[in-house]
Amino acid sequence: VPDVDRKPPWLRIALPSGAGYDKVRGIVHGHGLHTVCAESKCPNIAECWGRGTATLMLMGAVCTRACRFCSVSTGNPHGWLDAMEPPRVAEAVALMGLKYVVLTSVDRDDLADGGAAHYAACIRAIHARTPAVAVEALTPDFAGDLAAVANVLDAGLVTYAQNIETVVRLTRQVRDPRAGYAQTLRVLEFAKRHAPDTLTKSSLMLGLGETDVEIEQTLDDLRAAQVAIVTLGQYLRPSPNHLPVARFVAPEEFHHYRDLALAKGFVEAVAGPQVRSSYRAERVLEHNNVG
Ligand code: SF4
Ligand code: SF4
Repeated sequence: VPDVDRKPPWLRIALPSGAGYDKVRGIVHGHGLHTVCAESKCPNIAECWGRGTATLMLMGAVCTRACRFCSVSTGNPHGWLDAMEPPRVAEAVALMGLKYVVLTSVDRDDLADGGAAHYAACIRAIHARTPAVAVEALTPDFAGDLAAVANVLDAGLVTYAQNIETVVRLTRQVRDPRAGYAQTLRVLEFAKRHAPDTLTKSSLMLGLGETDVEIEQTLDDLRAAQVAIVTLGQYLRPSPNHLPVARFVAPEEFHHYRDLALAKGFVEAVAGPQVRSSYRAERVLEHNNVG
């Protein structure tokens, strides 16, 4: 097992800095918002913010689930929601000058609809304030509640994403027991059927112990669910209490998986050691009528 404290050279990165970065971060904090970009110290932040893409987190920082790869705190927010979040999100998107925004959140199993209506309100607020901005939602699985998924889609999305995270064999070890491989596929398949003009997307972490055959099977399962976009990135252990890294996948191997995904018919496949679900997300605008 590789030592997780000794990352290979392709994973040693400089943290973002600079006046532009500080300005955008100031807008985000000034509106009481959080970006995955800054909170997770994402290595792509300069590139993404420079292209006008960012990922905003909705509905707080406490998740009702406890996935074994994720550093977000687990708890029960007891139905708490900030009714002013939709207008603040819309204002921040405008001030940041974004062209493409990804909205994501913790899982909120404490809410009857899992927070779907809140997602829809944020999406609609962005459309009302900045109609030209393309919106992607990377949502929880809403415990498989397809009416909730429909509610989010009906607000108008370029891309709808739900992460499968890992291969079927490792799902029970990696994801919270309330999540499921088949459930994620069902949600994605429904999303495409319900909103055919919206591209669907999913992400897979590599380095958890999966085999090549299992990766290929997962890509096939996603294609069978009509998923158009896939991203593959390296799993990194957030702390010693999380699952260990089984291997570091070399950049050339990521190229291979990208080619494999494209050969299987994905419209877009983004793969690399530092790839996050939202990395180069705005590229879908080039494929908007496909999928
Ligand atoms: Fe933000 Fe995603 Fe880009 Fe990272 S990859 S900076 S999280 S938009
Ligand atoms: Fe983290 Fe999402 Fe799992 Fe919650 S549901 S623990 S935010 S990966």
